Amino acid sequence: MQSFTFQSPTEIIFGRGAEDRVAERLRARGASRILILYGGGSVVESGLLSRIEKNLTSAGLAFLVIGGVRPNPRVSLVREAIREGIAAQANFVLGVGGGSVIDSAKAVAHGIANPTVDIWDIWTHKVEIEQTIPIGTVLTIPAAGSEVSDSAVLTNEDTGRKLGLNTPLNRPLISFLNPELAFTLPRAQISAGAADIMMHTMERYFTNVKEPNVFTDRVAEALIRTVMECAERLLISRKDYDAMSELMWCGSVSHSGFTELGRCKDFSVHKLGHELSARFDSTHGATLTALWPSWARHVYKYDAARFAQFAAAIFGVNAGTDEERARAGIRHMEEFFTSIEMPTSLAGLGIGTPGKGTIEELARAATANDTIRLGCFHPLNAADAAAIYTAANH
Ligand code: NAP
Ligand code: FE
Repeated sequence: MQSFTFQSPTEIIFGRGAEDRVAERLRARGASRILILYGGGSVVESGLLSRIEKNLTSAGLAFLVIGGVRPNPRVSLVREAIREGIAAQANFVLGVGGGSVIDSAKAVAHGIANPTVDIWDIWTHKVEIEQTIPIGTVLTIPAAGSEVSDSAVLTNEDTGRKLGLNTPLNRPLISFLNPELAFTLPRAQISAGAADIMMHTMERYFTNVKEPNVFTDRVAEALIRTVMECAERLLISRKDYDAMSELMWCGSVSHSGFTELGRCKDFSVHKLGHELSARFDSTHGATLTALWPSWARHVYKYDAARFAQFAAAIFGVNAGTDEERARAGIRHMEEFFTSIEMPTSLAGLGIGTPGKGTIEELARAATANDTIRLGCFHPLNAADAAAIYTAANH
């Protein structure tokens, strides 16, 4: 087994009614002036936001509320919330929603703690971040894993870039996970979330590290199988508490780093997907399923045995050469994505079939004009990226 550092410091309050403990736990963590951030209105419609407000009010905690975070969250709203948070002297940021809201909450916390710095300068590493204020989350969708992760992704609408920032300061102090809060999710978001959860583990499973790590492999394989099974159950009945519970917990574990443990984090499909979201505002999870089969067919030959192990563990494919099993596993995963109504091509994203010029622009943007390599399973240059986009372009 390789050496590793593992840290996942977020306190998780999991189960029915978890959000009723917001005031009690935030006060215990020293919060007194809380900035609450939410999205496009699902938490208003469900009554969740007003329940949290009542909870805080009855505990005598001051708060201000800012809504309007969109999927593929924009830096402009983050800047506005930072200004309001500084004016209100907020000392805690609580994101109530999904990955877009939580990622924005992380950025707002960083901006409040660094009032003289523009948040995009932190995002582009012009300024290295050294401090933040505490972040909490009330999760409404099992998907991004941002409720525990060390990353956050923002879109700068002026430059057209969607970029992630990785730092231990992104780890929330506390997250409230009540699976019932996700019962109002539309089918497409259940599937997109499940796909994102699977990919957070798959982008760590396909690694260039050769030392065996049997336990981590088995955890990863069990997580992927559990997510697949629960997604199918939730598409039949979205109020299946047990299935939603498993999915939500898998979402957190998948992006906590527990299925990584010293391996390289490939994440090239994420990076290629971010370019599609930046340009076409595509749903994050859908960009991943649209590209993964093409990525897998482009790279599997660099370690066919690893893909064969995946095919055996996830789909029970035991017959044939490594090459045959690898290809069968990729085909089965493509079929699974289709079965949960997720796209496996660019056209499936609803963006048509972009022309050659657009494909080359996407590939150049993803690789910073061919100056960086994506991922580690098989590092991708701009030509590889273009080949993957092209293979998915139908
Ligand atoms: P999201 O973008 O936060 O939300 C997607 C949609 O689902 C929104 O329209 C939202 O509506 C709706 N929604 C959320 N909860 C709902 C509920 N309980 N009932 C009804 N509708 C609900 O989804 P996400 O997949 O969690 O986050 C995606 C973002 O996270 C992307 O920008 C992606 O790049 C990023 N990401 C971050 C990480 C990380 O570690 N930080 C990892 C992977 C992806 P409302 O706006 O009305 O609430
Ligand atoms: Fe993701």
